[in-house]
Amino acid sequence: MAFGWIEEQARARRRAGLVRTLRPRPADSPLLDLASNDYLGLARHPEITRSAAEAARVWGAGATGSRLVTGTTELHTTLEGELAAFCGFEAALVFATGYAANLAAVTALAPHGSLLVSDAGNHASLIDGCRLARGTTQVVAHADPDAVRKALGAHRGPAVLVSDTVFSVDGDAAPLGRLAEAARESGAGLVLDDAHGLGVLGEGGRGAPQGAGIAGAPDVVVTATLSKSLGSQGGVVLGPEAVIAHLVNAARTFIFDTGLAPAAAGAALAALRLLRREPERAARAREVAATLYERLTAEGFEAVRPDAAVVSVRAPSPERAVRWAEECRAAGLAVGCFRPPSVPDGVSRLRLTARADLTDAELRRAVEVIRATRP
Ligand code: PMP
Repeated sequence: MAFGWIEEQARARRRAGLVRTLRPRPADSPLLDLASNDYLGLARHPEITRSAAEAARVWGAGATGSRLVTGTTELHTTLEGELAAFCGFEAALVFATGYAANLAAVTALAPHGSLLVSDAGNHASLIDGCRLARGTTQVVAHADPDAVRKALGAHRGPAVLVSDTVFSVDGDAAPLGRLAEAARESGAGLVLDDAHGLGVLGEGGRGAPQGAGIAGAPDVVVTATLSKSLGSQGGVVLGPEAVIAHLVNAARTFIFDTGLAPAAAGAALAALRLLRREPERAARAREVAATLYERLTAEGFEAVRPDAAVVSVRAPSPERAVRWAEECRAAGLAVGCFRPPSVPDGVSRLRLTARADLTDAELRRAVEVIRATRP
């Protein structure tokens, strides 16, 4: 049996109680949602869904081709212009997913002979970008500018430092100012994934790099997803004109992938415009995260102080984390659950999303369910 080894792996997963299954979400789910990445509560906002539908009506359900052939519409170029202006960069390029944007930025900016210095807590898409790149990767200790300095120190030739701005597991922020300084000292470029920062951090949600004063710097390239704060789907790379032009010519996930669907581009554009009009949504998401953290730690839970909208609560073991999340669900609360192999260090967590549109009563209910189901 060619695939006999799959059953062996499945058995091991079952024994460990770590089997993953898919569960369709009903359109009118009765669960209180602290599991999604819809940080600003925009995925179902009527203005955003209307814009998605209108974009599909005008431009079609699919992009119909690669961006270089038929997959670029006015919506795509308008979205790119407005994203670049909002986040403070010269230019932007949108992709079908944030994952594809990360693969593009990392691989296209690390040629043969280059060094990629990658934070140990980076998202899988950055890790995969490093694996696909032609350079050599060195993984460094989490959020440690000195480790970065040491890794970059001895290298001659092109180098890039690759890091999330906000780490998806614990919701902690990278020390961007100090990382940028370490990179600058050795002439290295910086590739930052702001998936969890856009819409939440920076002035009115302009992102963590804007907040740290490094947006638009000539050696800084930022990626983000359109699927979290902007409530849509897709990804973006922001940077200097020359870098974006290079990606158009060299990034395989741009050239060989069908362009972002018009409905997703239309929804993201509408969400961006709404965020410009209602900048307080960003601060509200941060405030909800801080409240959630304070109430959970007051109940004796071990949580990581949130820097953005992700609140991570420690669980005693992977199995109990899975069971805890199940019990929350049974009590009407959807939460995320991170455990191996998604998190390599063996520390499992519940992952809570502090949506800007959660009410105080909903926050209280969430904390009460988490308390009542404590393992
Ligand atoms: N980077 C980070 C930090 C993420 O959390 C995610 C999504 N989970 C991605 C990239 C990928 O983005 P997308 O879902 O748009 O592919």
